[in-house]
This record gives sequence, structure tokens and C-alpha cells, in this order.
Amino acid sequence: AKARGRNGFRRYAAGTAMYNPARIALENDLRKAIDGDELVLFFQPQVDLVTQEIRGVEALVRWRHPQRGLVSPIHFIPVAEESGLIVPLGNWVLCAALHQLRQWQMQERLPVRVSINISALQLRQGGFARYLAEQIEAYAIDPCLIELELTESVLMHNVEGVLQTLHEIKALGVSLAIDDFGTGFSSLSYLRRFPIDRLKIDQSFVRDIERTPTNESIARAIVALANSLSLDIVAEGIETPAEKSVLEHMRCSEGQGYLFAKPLPAEEIVNWLGVSRKE
Ligand code: C2E
Ligand code: CA
Ligand code: CA
Ligand code: CA
Repeated sequence: AKARGRNGFRRYAAGTAMYNPARIALENDLRKAIDGDELVLFFQPQVDLVTQEIRGVEALVRWRHPQRGLVSPIHFIPVAEESGLIVPLGNWVLCAALHQLRQWQMQERLPVRVSINISALQLRQGGFARYLAEQIEAYAIDPCLIELELTESVLMHNVEGVLQTLHEIKALGVSLAIDDFGTGFSSLSYLRRFPIDRLKIDQSFVRDIERTPTNESIARAIVALANSLSLDIVAEGIETPAEKSVLEHMRCSEGQGYLFAKPLPAEEIVNWLGVSRKE
């Protein structure tokens, strides 16, 4: 399922999926999981590479399946995108993330940025910005604590419509990051057209960066691009001190990865917030 990735839907000819009973069962189960209480958010810290202080968290969805246990999103996000269930699923994620942010604000009095993955279909739904505004209002969240992660593919189709939606989102005070930067097929000129605040260096460029010159060059170029365009940056998938050190030396300001923390349940993030406050 992993190889299929987020564009997995392209593999199916129209209607083909209809004849796959296992897929229909999965879709039905997923629909029930969204309506029921089976989805759960984990949160992965994004840290300052110099001080290791927590700067934000990325919300990552999991499915607490009654028989199969905790299911990774790589097994159901593609199906959700193919079936359109990504819209209600994404709305659930958005509300759950804002709810959690509200809890942290009340318990810890520590504002922490929350990054939320938004799929193309969700963003292109009519009224997405209005829906976002309503939820921000309902949960009484400071919008500057919210960042939406978009992939380059979002920016490729219906450019005028997407541009309008992104400006509406920015007008709310919410910021925008490009996820998996450098892995898509868009032209760099979109950085000029779209109101982007941050680039996320994909983990494929971070992997073994200290002994893979091409990865080093690509990461360095992305950091330079971000710096010269005054964009924020975060490198994802940092697993080793060597990877961290190379990125820190090229003045990449933030990082995310197993070296710092795996995605954690909300209760454990509270400990993280506490730890970084004490230091
Ligand atoms: P992503 O947005 O690129 O998220 C980063 C993935 O890398 C996460 O996998 C995370 O657990 C993993 N990761 C973090 N640090 C490391 C590391 O040091 N090493 C390695 N090998 N992996 C690391 P996860 O949670 O399984 O999510 C997979 C993908 O599922 C996400 O990729 C994203 O595309 C999608 N996804 C997850 N949650 C949501 C959601 O709420 N909405 C949407 N639309 N997509 C989501
Ligand atoms: Ca992401
Ligand atoms: Ca990513
Ligand atoms: Ca990725």
C-alpha cells in the first residue's frame, strides 16, 4: 500500500474499484470509523535545531481499528482520497486538532503551533476557508497557531480557484506550508504566486544526508531558497545526530523526526511541553 502513495487513485480506471469487495468493505469500515469514535490524532514535535525546544507539532491521524489495532494512515488515506471520504475525514482531523490545541492552551497555558495536513480534495471543496473560519471561532483558537500543510499537487490544478482559497485562509491569520517540498512536479514559480510561509524538506532528502552528496546539495539548495525568500523551514524525518548536525550547519532552523520524538498521543505531548518549559 505504501508504494501507492497519496496519488494512488490514479492507478484505478474509473469504476474499477467498484468490483473490489475488500475495498468496498474497507471503505464502509472507514466511513463508520469517521462517524464513530475510531480515529485518533497523534502529534509529532517540530523542534528548534539549535536549542531543541519545541516549536510546533504536526497532527497525524491513526485509525484505532477494533480488530486490527492502530492502523497507519498510509493504509487508509489513499482509499479516503479515492473515495472522497478524505473530506469528512479531513474535517474530523481539523476539528480534533483545534479541540486538542484548545485543551493544551487551557491546561498548559503554552501556545504551540499545530500543523494540519490538508488534502487537495478538501481544499478544493467549496467553502473550505469559511469552514475553517467557523471552526477557529468555535474553538476560540488564535489563528496564528495554525499551519496547514499542503503538497505541491494542490497547487497544480485550478490555479485561480486555489489561489483565491489560499488568500482567504491567509486573511484569517493561518499560515501555509508546502509538505514534501521538492518531490512534486510543480514549477518553482508557484513560490512567487502562492502565499506560502514555510517549506518542509522531505525526508527522502534528509536520509543519510551526511554521506549522500546529492541529498546534501538538494537540502542546501532548499534552505538557501527558503532563506532568500524569507520562508520558514523544517526538515522532516531526522533520525540520527549526524543528519541533524548537517542540517543545523546549513542553517536549517527546525527539524522533525524520530531523533527528537515519534508521533505521540496528546497526553505525552503535554509532558514534552512541560519538559521544554522547565529547561
Ligand atoms: P507526511 O505528512 O509526510 O508525514 C510524515 C510521516 O513521516 C508520518 O508518517 C511520520 O510518522 C513519519 N515520520 C516522522 N518522523 C520520521 C522519521 O524520523 N523517520 C521516518 N522513517 N518516518 C518519520 P504517518 O504518520 O504514517 O503519516 C503518513 C502520511 O499520511 C503523511 O505523510 C500524510 O501524507 C498522511 N497523513 C497523515 N495524517 C493525515 C491527515 O490528517 N490528513 C491527510 N490528508 N493526510 C494525512
Ligand atoms: Ca505532513
Ligand atoms: Ca511530509
Ligand atoms: Ca513524506
